[in-house]
Amino acid sequence: LTDINALADEFMRLSYHGLRAKDKSFNADFKLELDPELPEVEVVAQDFGRLILNLVNNAFYAVHEKKLKLDKEVEGESDFHPLVKITSTNLGDKIQMKVEDNGEGIPDSIIEKIFQPFFTTKPTGAGTGLGLSLSYDIVKAHGGEFTVESKEGEGTVFKIVLPLKEAK
Ligand code: ADP
Ligand code: MG
Repeated sequence: LTDINALADEFMRLSYHGLRAKDKSFNADFKLELDPELPEVEVVAQDFGRLILNLVNNAFYAVHEKKLKLDKEVEGESDFHPLVKITSTNLGDKIQMKVEDNGEGIPDSIIEKIFQPFFTTKPTGAGTGLGLSLSYDIVKAHGGEFTVESKEGEGTVFKIVLPLKEAK
């Protein structure tokens, strides 16, 4: 059994500190709103760690890009505060995890494509386009649902709902 809250905490910090170490201009906040009553779930911890890392890396990338753009527009420090948040919720017979960011969002014209393997809008070297397609496979392999909602200019929310199995 796997503690999703512990994975969320671990991989949020890993991503954040990794990006900080790599790029001194990287500056974003993160928030963890983890339900203390979240039951452990029957998933492969390694797969779920990778899934969370993919989503959080994408979210930090999106908010950082937006910050760079807005700072450039004002030729200094804009008042935009980049934020990435993970929320977990016990739904009784399911658990829900959301990864939210206040980045640039995903245009309607490409949102249908983001789960396809090798689809990326990032410059060469910055992305393989495999993160979301692998993430989708991981969620499906565990019988879960994986959805996205995004508003251009406002941000993006990825939502995962996982069924709970009877404890053995
Ligand atoms: P990659 O990160 O290598 O580009 P992914 O499969 O992780 O590949 O994501 C595919 C594409 O989906 C990204 O290139 C980007 O256009 C879009 N995307 C994913 N997450 C976000 C997000 N949080 N905000 C805005 N766009 C996103
Ligand atoms: Mg990615």
